[in-house]
Amino acid sequence: MNSYAESVLNNLRKRYPHEPEYLQAATEILESLSAVIEKHPEYEKAGLLERFVEPERMVTFRVSWVDDSGKVRVNTGYRVQFNSAIGPYKGGLRFHPTVNASVIKFLGLEQILKNSLTGLPIGGAKGGSDFDPKGKSDAEVMRFCQAFVSELFRHIGPDIDVPAGDIGVGAREIGYMYGYYKKLVNANECAFTGRGISYGGSLVRKEATGYGLVYFTREMLKTKGEKFKDKKVVISGSGNVAIYANEKATQMGAKVIAMSDSDGYIYDKDGVDVEIIKKIKEVERKRISEYLKYRPDAKYIQGCNGIWTIPCDIALPCATQNELDAGSASALIKNGCIAVAEGANMPCTLEAVKLFLDFGVLFAPAKAANAGGVAISALEMAQASQRMFWSFDRVDKELDNIMVNIFKQCADAAQEYGFPGNYVVGANIAGFVKVADAMMAYGIV
Ligand code: NDP
Repeated sequence: MNSYAESVLNNLRKRYPHEPEYLQAATEILESLSAVIEKHPEYEKAGLLERFVEPERMVTFRVSWVDDSGKVRVNTGYRVQFNSAIGPYKGGLRFHPTVNASVIKFLGLEQILKNSLTGLPIGGAKGGSDFDPKGKSDAEVMRFCQAFVSELFRHIGPDIDVPAGDIGVGAREIGYMYGYYKKLVNANECAFTGRGISYGGSLVRKEATGYGLVYFTREMLKTKGEKFKDKKVVISGSGNVAIYANEKATQMGAKVIAMSDSDGYIYDKDGVDVEIIKKIKEVERKRISEYLKYRPDAKYIQGCNGIWTIPCDIALPCATQNELDAGSASALIKNGCIAVAEGANMPCTLEAVKLFLDFGVLFAPAKAANAGGVAISALEMAQASQRMFWSFDRVDKELDNIMVNIFKQCADAAQEYGFPGNYVVGANIAGFVKVADAMMAYGIV
């Protein structure tokens, strides 16, 4: 690693030893930026990397709400406004018990580069809470969302910071949060994306991350003369990203043979029926084990890791961070997997990524492969400013073009800096250069 990047990383390790996810993301990024830093000695003089890895602002706040039994509950809310060099802060909100400052900072840091790669004018942010929507009634989720926004609203706005969804935050939660925001500020403005179609949302937003992941993977497969048709695909998760990755891969002629949730996974040799998964997860909000009621010949296996031992051609981890470790990567490689593309954020550990690269498995890093969601969020903002709605086909075509362009940027940057086919290095460099140029132009701020 370049000595300047290494000193910045060592300093972070000293200051944030209790933030492992944030350090993991910073390590991956700083390691792969070495080549570009060597070319720009002026970055060190300007303290560019120190400023890049430190959030511009982070707010932590109390969220007090009342459950259905009348008991007062308290959660912690977070918003990290990491970098606004190229546009207003933009990034999702995650509601999950594992949320803490480290998780939010890792997601925010990644988001800066992801948003830059889309080619759209959006800065990087992320937020959320350790609140768990699972098992809560609609009324409890609504009261929580309103309490959360009663603090968050003062930090966001259409030209300042525009949150969206992430794990545990789907259409229902965005509806409750935007409804309360609108009431508080007395304005109908695009301060959240992922909104319903009847109140300012964009067509294809729901599908965007999963579809975009498959478009990116299609481009990557092309470099080896491969395509989705007739390939066996394993997808972890059964949430927003996983469902629409299944839908698009199936449309392209692949067979998705396994999906999961945090309890276990299903294996269906005839292809997992995505309409059944939508019914179980989007409508009934039940467990994936219910799938066997509709498809008795499928198998359900308790526990998540085993999903990567199923022989497949393409693996799409779409659940959560660090869900695919070195052992799982070895199993995939041994079984002849040719491509892995990250739908979730940082689902593969650093060791797993290294194995994929060493063994010549095509590997698509999250910040490039799952950028489709935030790209369509930015198009939702554009439609809101125009007071226009674009058709499904138009937005889907825009999404496809954006993903093709992201792939090209990653491939070109990897080639230019001497790492052909390494899209991890390519994505980090291509995303970083644009942000770095803007930060240099602003002087020390
Ligand atoms: P959802 O909440 O819709 O779905 C998450 C899925 O992952 C669920 O099936 C969930 O199962 C499973 N899951 C969660 N935690 C674990 C765990 N510890 N082990 C195994 N499975 C788990 O989230 P999304 O689909 O929106 O997000 C998934 C990933 O994609 C996240 O990393 C997110 O940051 C990333 N992402 C999402 C975008 C979007 O547009 N939605 C955009 C870019 C990235 P269960 O129901 O049991 O909890």
